[in-house]
Amino acid sequence: MIRFSSSEDIRSWGGVLQARHNVARPQWRDELPEVLAVARHSGSPILATGLRRSYGDTGLNPDGAILDMTALDRAIFFDPDSGILRAEAGVSFDMLLKMLIRRGFFLPVTPGTRFVTLGGAIANDVHGKNHHSAGTLGRWVRRIGLLRSDGLEIELTPQENTGLFGATIGGLGLTGVITWAEIETVRIASAIMDVENIPFENLDEFFQIARQSDGEYEYTVAWVDCLAKGKDLGRGLFTRGNHASKGARLPTKADPKLTIPFNFPSLVLNKLSLGAFNSLYYWKGKRNAGGSKVPIHPFFYPLDSIGHWYRMYGRRGMYQYQSAVPPESERDATKAMLELISAAGEGSFLAVLKTFGDKSSLGMLSFPRPGTTLALDFPNRGSSTLRLMGRLDAIVREAGGRLYPAKDGRMPADMFRAGYPHWQDFAKYIDPAFESHFWRRVGQ
Ligand SMILES: Cc1cc2nc3c(=O)[nH]c(=O)nc-3n(C[C@H](O)[C@H](O)[C@H](O)COP(=O)(O)OP(=O)(O)OC[C@H]3O[C@@H](n4cnc5c(N)ncnc54)[C@H](O)[C@@H]3O)c2cc1C
Repeated sequence: MIRFSSSEDIRSWGGVLQARHNVARPQWRDELPEVLAVARHSGSPILATGLRRSYGDTGLNPDGAILDMTALDRAIFFDPDSGILRAEAGVSFDMLLKMLIRRGFFLPVTPGTRFVTLGGAIANDVHGKNHHSAGTLGRWVRRIGLLRSDGLEIELTPQENTGLFGATIGGLGLTGVITWAEIETVRIASAIMDVENIPFENLDEFFQIARQSDGEYEYTVAWVDCLAKGKDLGRGLFTRGNHASKGARLPTKADPKLTIPFNFPSLVLNKLSLGAFNSLYYWKGKRNAGGSKVPIHPFFYPLDSIGHWYRMYGRRGMYQYQSAVPPESERDATKAMLELISAAGEGSFLAVLKTFGDKSSLGMLSFPRPGTTLALDFPNRGSSTLRLMGRLDAIVREAGGRLYPAKDGRMPADMFRAGYPHWQDFAKYIDPAFESHFWRRVGQ
């Protein structure tokens, strides 16, 4: 019989929240109904989790039950003619890539880390550098096995059980346990990317390059120097790429090359060091501008090569702030956010700017929408950081935008509801035994 054991150190990826949870780690899918029954009879609210790469509290359920799904990690079938893959929900993208790339296939959509599970990626309806060409992962999902707390497993497709399907894609784990999923994968000729890096001096240049690139490049993303001021405001490096048409199929060895051994003291990350890093990064990028061939893993997953990189933010952890604002306000809102951040001197190493395309998401709570997304890390300095994010909220609200729950750990409930107008329809599909810290905070 599977048991729950109490764990004190279940933490959000950003490290701001840590709480006690009762955790079970089922090994087989047929154990799941029993685990759910045990949790339900103990009166604990339930939540399934993957590799817990969500920054805030969407994957936390303090004092409740967590089903750690990572041992359910088997591929069920793969058809090399159609590229259709079916796998258990706890399989990581890392494992799937090991299987797919050498066979000449790739994931249709991937986030910036490969250490996420299939179930976790569906529950956040993740997006990647190809949002303008591929939309979100949910568009590539053909079938889902969903186990509800009454012990019934339902098969969901975009055509049948459409309401529950739309609630489960991007449904933050609240509609039940995703036990397996079937997705379409895409063909690639090699494990090499043709990449071009282009420095830009300001936001107008960024938008111009983004518009030019969207038709010809499958993947686009930019790093922006969030501490630059005055005439340098909005400068950065634009990266665009396509899968190369030839080259080796075996990805280079991709284990972390560097590991951050302990939490950095908070003094290490100050206005001066962040400013110096951002300037150096910009000038180095400018010197190395142009085209190059890049192996597939460093292109998609640069952070995965630094083990435990979040420790750079110190013991108090960090918040990530990812907004999406519509096209009509994208320029002004992005400029206003960068001005605020650079004046506060609270920016991050990793400020990522990208335009989202108009391929609509299937999920009721999916984050991407046409326009521009800006993602930044903020070391947690307590009230000053919360105040700064509150001021960013005002800009995002005014622009008619929204924040990404997978990255959030503090947005006010009214901001969530304004950004996700379908939240009440979504709430009808929540499994009554399921809850999360995030949902208790914004949805109840
Ligand atoms: C370095 C880094 C880069 C990132 N880049 C991006 C990016 O580019 N784009 C993007 O969209 N996201 C990005 N993310 C966020 C990440 O992709 C998502 O948070 C992803 O969902 C994490 O997957 P996971 O397996 O760790 O899920 P968890 O964080 O464990 O869980 C995420 C959600 O899924 C639910 N869940 C997990 N498994 C199941 C299941 N089997 N059944 C039902 N619900 C389940 C949980 O309850 C929770 O609500 C990034 C994160 C990191 C750390």
